[in-house]
Amino acid sequence: MHKVDVKEKARTRDQRILKKWNEEGTFKKSIENRSGKPNFVFFEGPPTANGAPHIGHVLGRVIKDFVPRYKTMKGYRVVRKAGWDTHGLPVELGVEKQLGISGKQDIEKYGVEEFVKKCKDSVFEYEKQWRELTEAIGYWTDLDHPYITLENNYIESVWNILSTIHGKGLLYRGHRVSPYCPCCQTTLSSHEVAQGYEDVKDLSATAKFKLHDSGDYVLAWTTTPWTLPSHVALAMNPDMEYARVQQEDGVYIVAKNLVEHVMKGDYTVLSTHKGSEFVGQSYTPPFTYFKPEKGNIIVGASFVTDSSGTGIVHMAPAHGEDDYKTCRENGISFVSVVNAQGRYTDEVTDFAGRFVKDCDLDIVKMMSEKETLYSKEKYEHSYPFCWRCKSPLLYYAMESWF
Ligand SMILES: [Zn+2]
Repeated sequence: MHKVDVKEKARTRDQRILKKWNEEGTFKKSIENRSGKPNFVFFEGPPTANGAPHIGHVLGRVIKDFVPRYKTMKGYRVVRKAGWDTHGLPVELGVEKQLGISGKQDIEKYGVEEFVKKCKDSVFEYEKQWRELTEAIGYWTDLDHPYITLENNYIESVWNILSTIHGKGLLYRGHRVSPYCPCCQTTLSSHEVAQGYEDVKDLSATAKFKLHDSGDYVLAWTTTPWTLPSHVALAMNPDMEYARVQQEDGVYIVAKNLVEHVMKGDYTVLSTHKGSEFVGQSYTPPFTYFKPEKGNIIVGASFVTDSSGTGIVHMAPAHGEDDYKTCRENGISFVSVVNAQGRYTDEVTDFAGRFVKDCDLDIVKMMSEKETLYSKEKYEHSYPFCWRCKSPLLYYAMESWF
């Protein structure tokens, strides 16, 4: 009697079915049989073939398989085009690793042209494994005629789409504030930023902004004094209570709930006011390297709280997302006095050419001399550093299209 090895049979069932599908051209037939029927178009969201596929990819591919199969069973003609994503950081980082280099400057030293060539060579390194996995899980897709993002016809189709959008007047140039490494000269993703936090002690400063009408000083606290030369506006919460506080050398304005926390020495609270009473007032900031259009005024912003600082926020649209949005909403000009290397531009005459993070101490000193500093203290906080080169990251407004 012929004995059936059940285990062996179970192990090879998938292989027997694959063999049958291949021999009979089942996938191809499922499309040909439906010529003239309505199309259901499926272009695969392309994976990157410079790395080996792993079990996580199986989940995505199974989902991408059963929708077209369902549509096929409903009678649609479903041409399924595979694709390869050949661009972006995963490819570049892989080649950097292979060459033992790191970052934009290293790449430029190596030669951009040559680097691009290496990248192109690397992107199909694991194509064979991808094909094997795809077939092994029974995922039907046309791997023989894929679209590839590095091919000119693909790139040109993207340009064509952009041109169409532009033709309709739907593109505009703006800024996006992102964590930025001035050494690698690239923005970092939130995933990358999360890898580089360290507890550090920085110098924080409470700065004085003299109101033109009353001569009172509005106080604003910052853990990044280097952003003060980029200052364009102050934000107060229109619905929050603020106090006018008398001290020997002047009257100061801070959030009512933070008076005790902020004020040094003896003081008397003169009166309290809603933030809205201050909105629209103009003042002189500690640094006046430029005159921001419609700037150096107090604006209302509901994101301002009294949980820390003074309850009044110093705004530098080049270095903060909320700052950027609020200034834009209020029609205040965008100003950036920090270049792509993280150094002050010539406008900032006192610190031109210096790396901004190294200027905190000198900025605070200068404010002290000019009597625009209320107080300073060492402040321990968690700060992000570049995971690649260990430089402190800056929040930096990069010009982009939207
Ligand atoms: Zn870096």
